[in-house]
Amino acid sequence: MTDSRPTPSYLWSILTMKCPRCRRGKMFNDSNAYRKLSLKHIFDMPEHCPECGQRYDLEQGFWYGTGYVSYALAVAISVSSFVAWWVLVGISTEDNRVFWWLGLNALLLVLIQPWMMRLSRVIYLYFFVSYDSEYKQTSPREFDHKQ
Ligand SMILES: [Zn+2]
Repeated sequence: MTDSRPTPSYLWSILTMKCPRCRRGKMFNDSNAYRKLSLKHIFDMPEHCPECGQRYDLEQGFWYGTGYVSYALAVAISVSSFVAWWVLVGISTEDNRVFWWLGLNALLLVLIQPWMMRLSRVIYLYFFVSYDSEYKQTSPREFDHKQ
């Protein structure tokens, strides 16, 4: 039995926070990261993908690496908002428009933090686990020292 459904797109699967292996199972129990602003809620993930059984927390301390991802994301977002500000509002040395950008950008980063923390985990896991169209027949990738 082969799966004739089309392969879900890479980017879309990341944005909708789906499992990297099957791109169908949800990575978070509650898709709304903002429902409760606690770390426990933001990182409320099933241990395994409900669709293909892929383990999410690949090894002890696996998620520590997400710090680099969220840093890169924060930089990318700041650069984009700076460029947008430059084009739409303008930057001048004669007034303090640039400080408005600084403040608003900082506020933006705070507001999207819960979403960004989740997205970092998703992107990070995508580095390690690749899409498997035969996921129903094959077994998920496991790391040797953790079973
Ligand atoms: Zn899956």
